[in-house]
Amino acid sequence: MSTQPATAAATYQDLLARIAPQGESRPINDPATGQEVGRAPVHTTADLDAAVSAARAAQPAWGALSHAERSDYLNRAADAVEANAEPLAELLSREQGKPLNGPNARFEVGACSAWLRATAAFELDPDVVVDDGDSHAAIHYRPLGVVGAIGPWNWPMMISIWQIAPSLRMGNTIVVKPSEYTPLSVLALGAVLNDALPADLLHVVSGGRDVGEALSSHPGIDKVMFTGSTATGKAIIRSSADTVKRLTLELGGNDAGIVLDDVDPQAIAEDLFWGAFINTGQTCAALKRLYVPDALYDQVCDALVEMAAKMPMGNGLDEANVLGPLQNQAQYDIVAQLVEAAKSSGARVLTGGNPDADAPGYFYPTTLVADIDNDNPLVAEEQFGPALPIIRYTDLEDAIAMANSLDVGLGASVWSSDPARARKVAARIEAGTVWINKHGAVDPRIPFGGAKQSGYGLEFGVAGLKGLGTPQVIAE
Ligand code: NAD
Repeated sequence: MSTQPATAAATYQDLLARIAPQGESRPINDPATGQEVGRAPVHTTADLDAAVSAARAAQPAWGALSHAERSDYLNRAADAVEANAEPLAELLSREQGKPLNGPNARFEVGACSAWLRATAAFELDPDVVVDDGDSHAAIHYRPLGVVGAIGPWNWPMMISIWQIAPSLRMGNTIVVKPSEYTPLSVLALGAVLNDALPADLLHVVSGGRDVGEALSSHPGIDKVMFTGSTATGKAIIRSSADTVKRLTLELGGNDAGIVLDDVDPQAIAEDLFWGAFINTGQTCAALKRLYVPDALYDQVCDALVEMAAKMPMGNGLDEANVLGPLQNQAQYDIVAQLVEAAKSSGARVLTGGNPDADAPGYFYPTTLVADIDNDNPLVAEEQFGPALPIIRYTDLEDAIAMANSLDVGLGASVWSSDPARARKVAARIEAGTVWINKHGAVDPRIPFGGAKQSGYGLEFGVAGLKGLGTPQVIAE
């Protein structure tokens, strides 16, 4: 198998030229300005069929390579991302809205190459389950075939890599269906990766819901990796049933953070802030409800207000900004309505909550809301934007009960200066990951997945690789 040498784009326009639509296309606008960023192809289910056929034809030769050979290609793909890092980050910033600076666009592109390299490096040996002298049995992980990946608009490049890297490493080929809000970022990333990969392993089909639906019921797709809302995850479970597809579902969350009464509010304020406001709150595993004890309530609120004042929001291309706009009007409306409802219920807005309706772009100010009830919609629903409700508690048992009161459980966090105490509380929280003194710190080595209606299946690490293989037992 041979590949083209990696080419480096000089500007984001070079990347756009590489993915220029051949047929029907539609404009994609910058959420900070409303101006056109570029045009995305409108792919159809016929394009999907062609991509799946090509990916199926390419899979046997790719699956026949050794792990070491496939890992070598993943490292070359990481080189290609690094060679194009700045134009990729600029395109991402223009299309998604996230600033170049801070834990945003450059960080996301950097995570893509880091995830490729980490995924290349994991050792995956068969699991020997019996070896007693009489019998020997081991579980091997064979390629599944063709993976279909469906993604959201919040971290479009990084989440695509979370799907692409382990799929390829395990000998599968893959067809990616990006969100209709952020197709350019994923098409450009795909073009860059394809410079380093053998032909036809990776296809990006830039379609809408109809293409997502067709992918999840397609007889040529063996597994769907889906990251997006819980409602769409349920639709995918239904449409994939007839072909008994394997599924990894990374769905919506409404992560709780519980502050214990032994913390220093100043010392945790910055990590709390970024736990909640990374990517301007548009993050699945962001801190979305914060429970704070009476004794520290005012101090934690004050420390967060101070932190918010230090974090500039604006056009992502301006290096000064670390927070950006909401990505789209629908998400802006959700955040605005939830904050308005919180205000009318009598909750106290500490900062923000007053968007400038006449300014261009989907900017919603960093908003902190205090003295709010646990059943307020701003607490109980996933806001997915820059508005954090801070709920007061007196008894830790009540805080744990409130944290567990929803039907989702992606991440959560406990904040304490006593690690043993924090671990005891963490063990009682119903979430796929509970971080201690941090929130949302994903790591390619550490498995990640949801509890309850936040989904099932694990990503990352060796557990993530196993999820992209068919287990086969050889017993002798
Ligand atoms: P969404 O569910 O609206 O869309 C996600 C993708 O699904 C898009 O590509 C869309 O075209 C496609 N789609 C829509 N209907 C479909 C159908 N019936 N069949 C197949 N595909 C279909 O989600 P979104 O608004 O893009 O993303 C935000 C949501 O994603 C939030 O709830 C967030 O918490 C969640 N999310 C979860 C994780 C995680 O790891 N758990 C990560 C990021 C985002």
